[in-house]
Amino acid sequence: MVLSAPGESSIMSTTNVKPGPTSPVLDFVAIGLGPFNLSLACLADPIRDLRGLFLERNEDFDWHPGMLIDDTTLQNPFLADLVSLADPKSKFSFLNYCKQEGKLYAYYIRERFYLSRAEYNRYCKWAISQLSSIAFGSSVEHVEYDAQQGHYLVRGRNVRTGQPFMHRAARLVIGVGSVPQLPPCCGELRERCIHSAHYVACKAELQQKRSIAVIGSGQSAAEIFYDLLKESDEHDYTLTWITRSPRFFQMENTKLTLEMISPDYIDYFYNLPDGVRENIIAKQDSLYKGVNASLINQIYDLLDDRRSRGCNSARLITNSELSACRHDRIEDRFHLRFVQRDEGVQYTHVTDGAIFATGYGQNVPGFIEGIRARIRWDDKGRYRLSRNYAIDVSGREIFVQNAGLYSHGLTNPDLGMSCYRNSCILRELTGVEHYKIERRIALQDFSVPDTEAFVKMPLEAQ
Ligand SMILES: Cc1cc2nc3c(=O)[nH]c(=O)nc-3n(C[C@H](O)[C@H](O)[C@H](O)COP(=O)(O)OP(=O)(O)OC[C@H]3O[C@@H](n4cnc5c(N)ncnc54)[C@H](O)[C@@H]3O)c2cc1C
Repeated sequence: MVLSAPGESSIMSTTNVKPGPTSPVLDFVAIGLGPFNLSLACLADPIRDLRGLFLERNEDFDWHPGMLIDDTTLQNPFLADLVSLADPKSKFSFLNYCKQEGKLYAYYIRERFYLSRAEYNRYCKWAISQLSSIAFGSSVEHVEYDAQQGHYLVRGRNVRTGQPFMHRAARLVIGVGSVPQLPPCCGELRERCIHSAHYVACKAELQQKRSIAVIGSGQSAAEIFYDLLKESDEHDYTLTWITRSPRFFQMENTKLTLEMISPDYIDYFYNLPDGVRENIIAKQDSLYKGVNASLINQIYDLLDDRRSRGCNSARLITNSELSACRHDRIEDRFHLRFVQRDEGVQYTHVTDGAIFATGYGQNVPGFIEGIRARIRWDDKGRYRLSRNYAIDVSGREIFVQNAGLYSHGLTNPDLGMSCYRNSCILRELTGVEHYKIERRIALQDFSVPDTEAFVKMPLEAQ
């Protein structure tokens, strides 16, 4: 990708553009640099004459640093790297990273296909070091549309110097990720409650407490519980793991279920009515929110070992929905109220420390207020995505990453579908299918097959 205008040679020439009528109009500005827009940056890089710029408010890349716990791994095999599923020959592939860093043989001998999260983070940083299209420390604050010129104005500030910037772009790709979510009853204690997104930074403080409650039972909750459990011998705390779910369920990863992470399933899901899609998502927790089976087993083994040695003080409780949360300032303790619906009771658990692994919600950033009228919204205030990931009324100007759970289904947050989505977005940005887009990969049919062997009729006619 050629970032600079003719005669300009580096990112600096573009990032320092002063607000003014003469700044160049880029083909696109991408906002946010998580793995999804980073994958786009890598795939866009070799495309000549495509002028794009990636703005990231952080000063460096760090993938969910609050959850970079030792020994945690990705939930996808390494092929779900930034580029391989679109272009296995790309110089940004994980295998090329291993080759360049002298790690390829070690990786081959280790036979571990699930990278550690720390290694994935290093790999992303390595890819970034070869890109000139990224402006770190650039916080986007406002976007508007210049109707006369027919392009977008992206305004913001350098986080270190406070220096304002403005860029002009024909199109936008919003990749600002999601935001940590606390249960609604934590409203007034928002500042006091520690979300799993900040676990690593708060771990030492938590370990000073005599009792710690972990709330939630997704992968993050399980990783935190295990991490605290392993070290509980060295500290003097008791652990309680409480979840609303009826069980500590595993993430389903049998092969015919994994086929749902596919273009075929996106097509099927996208074409269902709104209400139907919503109901389906509500029933798919175990497909994208569950815990790795190996981690559940490790937790069990450690608890069982502690029990055999007569030193297990941890408690695990399911079916308990947090309904109230109060912090007693004098005692410095949380009073957590839970409802156990099956038994028809509520109970209070008092704990010194609490960590909320209660997930993430859609991030509709404030900077889009200036272009709100150009965006299509659903009746729940979420973006209404076109099949090609555009959210604007024309269906070809503003694209989003990781914001289509209710339109494109469970493939939305999955790193394994990043290359597919970015291949589609690049086709929209350039008018050319630079990376071959698979239409059908599944062995199974999600829709009733369109052949003579299956005769379709409306339900009423049964
Ligand atoms: C702990 C954890 C582990 C996960 N592990 C996996 C896994 O193994 N496999 C899998 O498939 N999925 C996984 N996921 C889910 C998902 O793939 C990740 O959340 C992924 O990081 C999402 O990428 P993203 O690019 O959408 O957003 P993010 O990684 O959240 O990045 C968004 C970026 O946008 C920037 N930004 C926001 N606002 C602005 C602004 N106004 N101006 C400039 N920049 C801005 C932010 O600073 C941030 O860097 C995991 C999620 C979590 C939380």
